Amino acid sequence: FADRDGVIWFDGELVPWRDARVHVLTHTLHYGMGVFEGVRAYDAGDNGACIFRLQEHTQRLQRSAKIMNMPLPYSEEELNEAQRMVVRENGLKEGYLRPMAFYGSEGMGLRADALKTHVIVAAWEWPSYMSPEAIELGIKVNTSSYTRHHVNISMTKAKANGQYINSMLALQEAIRNGCDEALLLDPEGYVAEGSGENVFVVSNGVIYTPELTSCLDGITRQTVIRLAEECGYQVREKRITRDEVYVADEAFFTGTAAEVLPIRSLDGRTIGEGRRGPITTRLQSMYFDVVRGRSEHHLEWLTPVEDE
Ligand code: PMP
Repeated sequence: FADRDGVIWFDGELVPWRDARVHVLTHTLHYGMGVFEGVRAYDAGDNGACIFRLQEHTQRLQRSAKIMNMPLPYSEEELNEAQRMVVRENGLKEGYLRPMAFYGSEGMGLRADALKTHVIVAAWEWPSYMSPEAIELGIKVNTSSYTRHHVNISMTKAKANGQYINSMLALQEAIRNGCDEALLLDPEGYVAEGSGENVFVVSNGVIYTPELTSCLDGITRQTVIRLAEECGYQVREKRITRDEVYVADEAFFTGTAAEVLPIRSLDGRTIGEGRRGPITTRLQSMYFDVVRGRSEHHLEWLTPVEDE
């Protein structure tokens, strides 16, 4: 992945992809204290490539840094510009963006004083995270044997690098079990989220999703709640148990990478008809229209990468 053409925004400058390097004593590489985002740009027809909910992603990066006590050396505007620039300069029509702030190699102590915060933004083509069958039929999920983070151990509102050890363990276990994704429970045993997605269930026409206590405040989650409410659906945030998911009519994940992804089964129990349900279908298709500017609603969520 390192040996390819293109440019990466690195501490305020565009550098050739192959030259965007760090030292082996990079602090974040050792202890995982860093913050990042996953952002997407879509081909929005006449508006060209547009970044979806850029401001919200940048603001979450800033909040993550604040939680982790990392000083961010760039303003919100500079970070937004950097993201527009990498999509534009790499000639991408659609793509995935990875802004990340990490500590440099100025020292190895846990005190983390006198460390410099470095920031990169990379962008690359990433057509679809899931296969067309998965988007339509849904994926197989298992409840993870790994618990999601406790709010007072690593905190859950920061999209911090080290948090993803837990996600990777859960995802690898799910794949070993013949599933596509994991559902993680919070330390009290209630449904939290997927390895990189928020989760929703539909029962009797009402849409439910866990409260934010031990999951990430997903921007796709916010988007889907808004779209669902605008369609007149009731959306309730509440504690959800794994057996409520077993007997739900529909279930789906949301995330920048996963978009709106139906869940076909959990722990071998078929959910609903075992394929994408009607409410999931409607929300998924609205989501795809909104991100690509095919709907006149919420054009304010799209930021063109080209200057007007
Ligand atoms: N939960 C976790 C743990 C995630 O990594 C992600 C992906 N960022 C999400 C939820 C979904 O967040 P978003 O919709 O902002 O991508």
